[in-house]
Amino acid sequence: MADLNKLAKMLQELDDMMVACMKCGMCQAVCPVFTETMKEADVTRGKIALLENLAHEMIRDADGVQERLNRCLLCGSCAANCPSGVKVMDIFLRGRTIVNTYMGLSPVKKAILRGMVGNPKLFNMLLDVGSKFQGIFTSQANELLGSSCSKFLSPIIGDRHFSPLAKQSLHSKYGTIDIPTGKSGIRVLFFPGCVADKMYTKAGEACLKVFRHHGVGVWMPAAQACCGIPALSAGDRVAYDKMVKFNVNIFADGDYDYIVAPCGSCISTIHELWPQFAGEYPEDLRNKIDRIAAKAMDINKFVVDVLGVKPAEAPKGGTKVTFHDSCHLKKSLGVATQPRDLIRMNPNYELVEMNEADRCCGCGGTFNLYHYDLSKKIGERKRENIVASEAKIVSTGCPACMMQMTDMLSQHNDSVAVKHSIEIYAETL
Ligand code: SF4
Ligand code: SF4
Repeated sequence: MADLNKLAKMLQELDDMMVACMKCGMCQAVCPVFTETMKEADVTRGKIALLENLAHEMIRDADGVQERLNRCLLCGSCAANCPSGVKVMDIFLRGRTIVNTYMGLSPVKKAILRGMVGNPKLFNMLLDVGSKFQGIFTSQANELLGSSCSKFLSPIIGDRHFSPLAKQSLHSKYGTIDIPTGKSGIRVLFFPGCVADKMYTKAGEACLKVFRHHGVGVWMPAAQACCGIPALSAGDRVAYDKMVKFNVNIFADGDYDYIVAPCGSCISTIHELWPQFAGEYPEDLRNKIDRIAAKAMDINKFVVDVLGVKPAEAPKGGTKVTFHDSCHLKKSLGVATQPRDLIRMNPNYELVEMNEADRCCGCGGTFNLYHYDLSKKIGERKRENIVASEAKIVSTGCPACMMQMTDMLSQHNDSVAVKHSIEIYAETL
């Protein structure tokens, strides 16, 4: 049984956050889910109306509330366009936590989030073993994209095309990396994030190459947990708190100037959500989190704004590349020009813009798992824009978007490769 005092306090805090919403409905125009369904319940205004009566609605139909709250990509498009500055992400994440505190977490989610992702050693070990045997269950789908599809598991994973696990993850290849500061005078804590560590290791290797080239010192502790965003999105504060505390215990005493990741989602979680959701932690832990969060920076921004790498002029000709703005990178962190600058640094490529470059690709983390039909419809629009740009490569700054775009392009057997922007820059070094 949930702690009623705790629940009441959480509901009160949520109420206070929602008063800023003036119900103007401007969020409708930018919400990718609403565009597909045209249901008021699927857009921010509808969800805020639901949350305003949350206590009553939870008692009436807790499953229904959870289902409606989960029909959201947490893309932040509504928050970025809200004239009242409503803290939509904060509200939705807290709403999900309240519903899960009330209902209790399902055994499957508990096993995955608390038992597996929340135990970095076990999580790493399971995926390292999985990478050895994945070929038994998958077959290649698109050679250029390197994507696979399932041989036997389609009742569970549908018709998805996915990027396989890397043969060797970054953590198992390198263990702890501890390189002193070189000519740059800067040292970073490198946080590859789960997807670049285990799947898109080329993006992680590209970061390491860039650090080496610019004389940036690197500390990559072998023991790192997930940043916590999958648990927080699922409303599981227990698993989220565990992951944050695990990382903070390791990161707090390190000697570094920045925490750098090739993943907009990881960096926006560390930079924004860690301090926002630290209210109930002891003061000492909150202070540590504030210090760590202030140092968190996306790799594109780090290379351009800190290392000062900028193209003199944009090259013309060469292979056409288009850039997709990941929601966390652009809407949460305001990083949009820097990855384009990095692409322009490579004389073999020409950057061409696609329509709606900053429209969500439809991945949304666990949204893709529970609402694949909707996720796919939103992804189809992204794929159409990519293909219409006539680019041969689509680049982005977030491995989760790379997964989604790979799936969409591969299902149409398109000849468009997917690359992280840091890979494109690293090719020039
Ligand atoms: S969330 Fe913002 S944009 Fe949406 S209805 Fe409320 S005030 Fe308007
Ligand atoms: S976060 Fe994105 S999907 Fe969710 S309501 Fe806002 S715009 Fe729609």
